[in-house]
Amino acid sequence: MDFWLNNTLTGQKERLYAADGDTLRFYCCGPTVYGPAHIGNFRTFVLQDVFRRVAEATGLATRHVRNVTDVDDKTIRGSREAGQSLSDFTDQWRKRFEDDADALNLLVPEVTPSAVENIPEQIEMIAILLEKGLAYQAKDGSVYYRVSAFKDYGKLSGLQRDAMETNADGRLNEEDEAVKEDQADFVLWKAWKEEDGENKWDSPWGPGRPGWHIECSAMSTKYLGKSFDLHSGGVDLIFPHHENEIAQSEGCTGETFVRHWFHVAHLQIDGGKMSKSLGNLYTLDDVQEKGFTAEELRYVLLSGHYRQPLSFSWDSLHAAQAALKRLRKFKSLLGDLPKEPQALGRFEPALAALADDLNTSKALGQLFAVVGDLEKDPSVITEEDRSGFAVLMFAFGFELLEPEAAPVGEAPEEVKTLAQQRWEAKQNKDWAAADDLRDKITAAGWTVKDAKDGFELLPN
Ligand code: AMP
Ligand code: ZN
Repeated sequence: MDFWLNNTLTGQKERLYAADGDTLRFYCCGPTVYGPAHIGNFRTFVLQDVFRRVAEATGLATRHVRNVTDVDDKTIRGSREAGQSLSDFTDQWRKRFEDDADALNLLVPEVTPSAVENIPEQIEMIAILLEKGLAYQAKDGSVYYRVSAFKDYGKLSGLQRDAMETNADGRLNEEDEAVKEDQADFVLWKAWKEEDGENKWDSPWGPGRPGWHIECSAMSTKYLGKSFDLHSGGVDLIFPHHENEIAQSEGCTGETFVRHWFHVAHLQIDGGKMSKSLGNLYTLDDVQEKGFTAEELRYVLLSGHYRQPLSFSWDSLHAAQAALKRLRKFKSLLGDLPKEPQALGRFEPALAALADDLNTSKALGQLFAVVGDLEKDPSVITEEDRSGFAVLMFAFGFELLEPEAAPVGEAPEEVKTLAQQRWEAKQNKDWAAADDLRDKITAAGWTVKDAKDGFELLPN
């Protein structure tokens, strides 16, 4: 099956293929590790994961690189406020990101390089840009990219120069506007300042640190080559970050940097922006504390088409809970699934929807249509259907494990069953039944305690 995906660069749906005839090489801009990633960030990371899964399910081998941004204004400020070294501070948030990613069942990329681990590569690239007249050192000691010298600037975002100058976001303003030749120029190497503390690296232009954009150009080239198949991030990265990456990389190598650009629209809360100041910025922990699982969040994040903004609500998690429960039940109806599924059986249209511009909402519709038919008449289920269901669960990244029960010690089977029933009653918000079951458990000599993703049984 061919896999077609919208390309931000051309605005067209294009077929994905590996230019080297072998492996689809792709890069995803990773997290800035100065705090926990929020569920909006995870919309993008989950979609990138499904992208990879669908590529693999449709027969493409992949090589996946996702960086970690571990030096910028936010990480330096955060580490100084916490009284920690930059590496201790970012290590802790990097670990937290990896744990969350694991809970959300994201496949681990082949390489997860960090900006700090790749300073020489960035310096080398900046030196080439200077040599080619595409960069200059300003009187503040920082090195800037000379946007006017790169004729293709704006080809990804379609922005005109006037718009660029006024379209400043927080990161664009990192540099000192006064010293630049032109407002649109952006920083490649930031000269050291007092507030950077001990965080500085030597370079031919004096001590300092790389700018945010150059890290992704340098790391993607190092691990994927000068020219590779696909690059991805949330829509906020189209400009300036990805536009600047193109200018840096193509300015340096003279070759096409990336053929296919894949951008994910934002997750919104109740139709609006998520932000710290509005107090509506949720993390995976927040979701789990309300009694939902990471898989239920994953389901919600896949419920809308990636090119449309998605509005998050707690109700959507209830719907996800019911949908996953139904899928779990259907899986047990199917019995053992093949270990290396190939055939698609009746689930072929669901994978076809994913392979047509990652239409996750349509694919879920197709999936449940087939599930509904087979639930009504399980006798018609074939080996191909079992295989097809396994392929689809891989593509969506649903494991369909029972919500994890914590260790249950030596409790007898009947007590474990009561505790499981109580857990399910709680999931269904049937508090009366849950209380009733707790009383029965207590009467049997056991205490049931709620754990993060399940329950624990302790003798009274
Ligand atoms: P950051 O850690 O800020 O560099 O962001 C990590 C990823 O999350 C990037 O690909 C962003 O484009 C993406 N992102 C940020 N906010 C949202 C959001 N509300 N919805 C979806 N993706 C987002
Ligand atoms: Zn990036």
